Parts: sequence; structure tokens; C-alpha cells
Amino acid sequence: MKHVRIDDVENDVQPAAVVRRLTEALETTDVAINHYELEPGDSFAFGYHRHEIQEEVFFVRSGTATFETETGDVTVGAGEIVRFAPGEFQRGWNRGDERVVALALGAPLAYGESELRRDCPTCGGQTRNELDRQDDEDAPEGAAVVAYCLECDTETGRWVTGSMPGDVP
Ligand SMILES: [Zn+2]
Repeated sequence: MKHVRIDDVENDVQPAAVVRRLTEALETTDVAINHYELEPGDSFAFGYHRHEIQEEVFFVRSGTATFETETGDVTVGAGEIVRFAPGEFQRGWNRGDERVVALALGAPLAYGESELRRDCPTCGGQTRNELDRQDDEDAPEGAAVVAYCLECDTETGRWVTGSMPGDVP
């Protein structure tokens, strides 16, 4: 058995004020579990994305999340839950005024092939991107996660540990 207090799990780098990776803390073997807290403007993900074999479920506990989907934006309020099938593109945001608290579940643990899309200023539209994750100790002042356009190599995003909006020191 594993029993974890969510607030005791270390905060990780994500375009969100708080993401606590409960998968590792609970040592789950078949399901990914993440606790999210999004300040207004924050996002659950590094870009519009889909996973080949992992389905994702978001249970919004408070606030209102807005998901970009293949069929337009979908708002998911407190007490509501949304599921994205493997292969479906989505990206969730907090476009409201209130902090969003949500639990995200993904299964199986493996993503399979993932596809991430972000706006590229050089290409002038949404392109396929790749994330480069660096070890925090190796790059204390560098970025922990960088997104690159796969078509032109332009950096389209950079997230640094401890400097995220709303992060608690
Ligand atoms: Zn580009």
C-alpha cells in the first residue's frame, strides 16, 4: 500500500502553478496520476497534444478549465470530468479568474507515440514541436524544459523551475 499527502509531493515543472506527480509517489504501474493547480492563464500541458495509446481524464475539483479540442473549446467546471481518447488532440487551460484544481489520470502509463503542436513565430502557424527536458542540477539557471519547432528548430517555449507564475517557494 502507498498512502500520500498530495501537498507533500514535490512541485514539478509544467506551465501550471502546481503539478504534483503522484504516479511516482504512489508507484502506480498502470495509471498516471497528477495533481494540478492552475492560476488564471496557466495550462495543463506544454502544447496541443495527443498520445497514441494513453487516454486522459481530468476531474476538475474547483474553478473552470477550458480544453481546446478537435471540435472546439469545451469548458469543464467544478464537479465535472472529461475524458480524451487515445489519439485525440487536446490542451487544457485556466481561462477563468479563479484557480483551477484538478486531478488528471492517464492510462496506460505509456504514451506510445505522442504529438505536440505549438505556435511557431518563424513558421507562422502551429507546427509539430518536441520537448527537451534538462536536469535541474545540470542547469540551475537554465530552462528545465524547452520546446522546439521540429520544422525550423526555433525555440517556442521555455519553463524554468521555481520561476513559474504562482509558484510557491
Ligand atoms: Zn518553425
